[in-house]
Amino acid sequence: LSKPNYKAELVGVFGHPVEENPTIIMQEAAFRTLNLNWRYLTIEVYPDDLKDAIQGLRAFNMQGINLTIPHKVEVLKYLDEVTPDAQLMGAVNTVYREGKRLIGTNTDGKGFLTSLIHDAKVDPRGKNVVILGAGGAARAISVELALAGTNKITIINRSPSRGEELANLLRAKTKVESYYVPWNGTYRIPPETDILVNTTSIGLFPYTEQKPDISYDSILKGSIVCDVIPNPPQTQFLKEAQSQGAKTLDGLGMLVYQGAIGFKLWTGKDAPISIMKQALKKEFGVE
Ligand code: NDP
Repeated sequence: LSKPNYKAELVGVFGHPVEENPTIIMQEAAFRTLNLNWRYLTIEVYPDDLKDAIQGLRAFNMQGINLTIPHKVEVLKYLDEVTPDAQLMGAVNTVYREGKRLIGTNTDGKGFLTSLIHDAKVDPRGKNVVILGAGGAARAISVELALAGTNKITIINRSPSRGEELANLLRAKTKVESYYVPWNGTYRIPPETDILVNTTSIGLFPYTEQKPDISYDSILKGSIVCDVIPNPPQTQFLKEAQSQGAKTLDGLGMLVYQGAIGFKLWTGKDAPISIMKQALKKEFGVE
């Protein structure tokens, strides 16, 4: 008879606000499927308490943690190591352990890239990309696209400082050609664009009728149009792009793949990706 083990392994997410973070749904579905006695905890951590929270994580011997708003940048100073791409982005969304050492990485951009390659069957090498937005998701996605060999990345953003900073970072730290274009009025997508990505929060539940201010008739037939918004997966932005004849990719794949990378870093096992995606679709009430 094997010795009983009543101890659960702990992972989770630190954020504020954090109530609406759906990650628990897909990670716990994955743990159940693989018969792992692991728990994913959704934990409210106020901005001033992050240092103590990371100490707590060490004290509880937790296996790792996700970081969401507003902790992704701040957390870097409390970790033992940060992977080079997360250092480049200046943001960490996943922490895992190697023994007692806490290592920070960023799986958001990799999740997007995996979804682009596997779900949309698009190779980013040599492509011209337009990114709407310059926040955390834009940083992660553009750095990974640049490292994957994209030809040109144009950043369109409302606030010039964030947009310029991101384009400068891409030019300075990667080989990609990159420009910032101010978002003044309705933006026309340049005809050489292969991939268009919305990384703004426009269209996120409950503001599902909103869409980014671009000329939808400038979207080229046959181009690929992606949204990072996971809920609802079918945004107005994607619907408009479809009616222009573009191929579309929703934000659910990115969410699942970034979580699957974290799952593997934590448990050492391959994530049951279709189970995770199904669990989220059921939660969001979509097919
Ligand atoms: P940030 O707050 O870091 O960035 C938000 C971006 O959206 C900024 O560029 C901001 O522009 C822009 N923006 C917001 N509102 C408007 C508006 N009304 N008009 C023009 N621009 C606007 O957020 P994140 O990058 O962390 O997240 C953005 C979205 O990505 C969220 O909806 C989130 O749910 C989603 N996401 C999805 C993931 C997935 O796995 N599918 C993973 C991570 C995020 P400005 O700089 O001018 O303020």
